[in-house]
Amino acid sequence: MTFKSPSTGDPVPLSFIIPKTQDDLLKRRKALEITAEAHHGILGRTPDYVNIQVTATRQMAELHGHTDKRFGDNLIAYHENIRENDLSLTHCFGHPQVNRGVAVGQQPDPYIPIGVVDTTSEGIILRGAKLLATLAPFSDEIFVPPYRPLRGKEEEMYALGFAIPTATKGLSFICRESWDTGRSTYDQPLSSRFDEMDALAVFDDVLVPWDRVFCYGDVELHNHIVELGIMWRQYMQHVAVKNIAKLEFALGMTHAMVEAIGIGVHAHVQEKVAEIIDTTETVRSYLRAMEADAGPWMGEGIWLSPEPTIAMRHWAPDAYQRVTDIMQQLAAGGLMLTPTEADMESSIRPVIDKYFQGAKIGAYDRVRLFRLVWDFIGTQFGSRQILYERYFNGDVVRLRQGRFQTYDYSKADASLAKFWQETDQS
Ligand SMILES: Cc1cc2nc3c(=O)[nH]c(=O)nc-3n(C[C@H](O)[C@H](O)[C@H](O)COP(=O)(O)OP(=O)(O)OC[C@H]3O[C@@H](n4cnc5c(N)ncnc54)[C@H](O)[C@@H]3O)c2cc1C
Repeated sequence: MTFKSPSTGDPVPLSFIIPKTQDDLLKRRKALEITAEAHHGILGRTPDYVNIQVTATRQMAELHGHTDKRFGDNLIAYHENIRENDLSLTHCFGHPQVNRGVAVGQQPDPYIPIGVVDTTSEGIILRGAKLLATLAPFSDEIFVPPYRPLRGKEEEMYALGFAIPTATKGLSFICRESWDTGRSTYDQPLSSRFDEMDALAVFDDVLVPWDRVFCYGDVELHNHIVELGIMWRQYMQHVAVKNIAKLEFALGMTHAMVEAIGIGVHAHVQEKVAEIIDTTETVRSYLRAMEADAGPWMGEGIWLSPEPTIAMRHWAPDAYQRVTDIMQQLAAGGLMLTPTEADMESSIRPVIDKYFQGAKIGAYDRVRLFRLVWDFIGTQFGSRQILYERYFNGDVVRLRQGRFQTYDYSKADASLAKFWQETDQS
């Protein structure tokens, strides 16, 4: 889980390693696996996730310091600070969802997105809000990288990248309600244990000290950093590891349900379970490919291979949705045949034992299993899991538009040209 700190020699988390070799990536993967398997892939935002984002950004310290060297130096010092103190971070990219039909600088109030109010000798004063800070109540720090291309000088006040403690004066978080409603682990096996919380971060004239600023006031550089998509080039290893843990958990639940109610004899059920197996193994292949073909790109160290990384980022949300659809289809009405723990302990238990038993499982365990599946795909917690998988990594619609516009079509075009040439010659 740790490596030797380059500055102190102390053991520090592997999520902070700047990978220089494939072996470094494999060491980091092993550490990520231990964490992901501990929560069965349910927690998307264990701190190793943003640790890798900051590490990737730090690999590009020189770029951040392009106009003002201080910003690159700040990034290096910040990375060292959170690494040595093993701090927990939340992060926020998006602007509040007020009017997505117009640009950042055209919202009804210029300080709906976070913008600069003033600068002092101490730092910059910021006002506005950012979404969506998962893990905020459990975090020491908030990391706000540059996000979305800006139109030009008129949007200079939004060209920002920084990090500050969550306990900073003027910074507050508006959380959604908790999905942990105090029920037992029998009644709500996941909601009762794994709600990582989501929040809007509100900046009410917050002072960000200069030594915590990584990007400021340079629209061209800001846009270049956004365009490079630096962080996902490293954190997709975390995503793949988490997804494998989650898909294995989903497969385990599905397999148990199939056995529990004896539906494995039906051909379409076998085919659907196999689809979950194939999805799991596809993610494993993406992970291997992104690591095996990793290499130098820009800045320090090596980076995951881009093509499998991009392809998985665009494919995974729909694949996950399909897995949950299969689970719902196979569980069917069983998802509603789920008396509570209190019912289990009541006088109706003999009736429950008779009618809620399965083919190879007693009523108590069968109900517990179906309650787990419902908490995974159907409760508020389960619905949030599905929403998370659709959006946590950006909006695939827009990502694919970018893919359409930037993909290197030369091989594909050459293939067609060759075909026409062969056709003409035949
Ligand atoms: C559970 C959960 C946890 C999250 N955790 C974090 C986190 O920890 N940190 C973080 O920074 N973010 C987090 N996110 C936010 C995530 O990055 C965003 O949800 C995602 O980028 C989509 O942005 P949005 O939600 O603002 O949707 P919007 O951008 O408002 O999109 C809404 C709809 O409008 C369409 N649309 C909007 N604008 C355009 C356009 N210009 N062109 C075409 N279509 C458009 C979209 O396709 C979509 O269908 C989280 C999201 C979820 C759901």
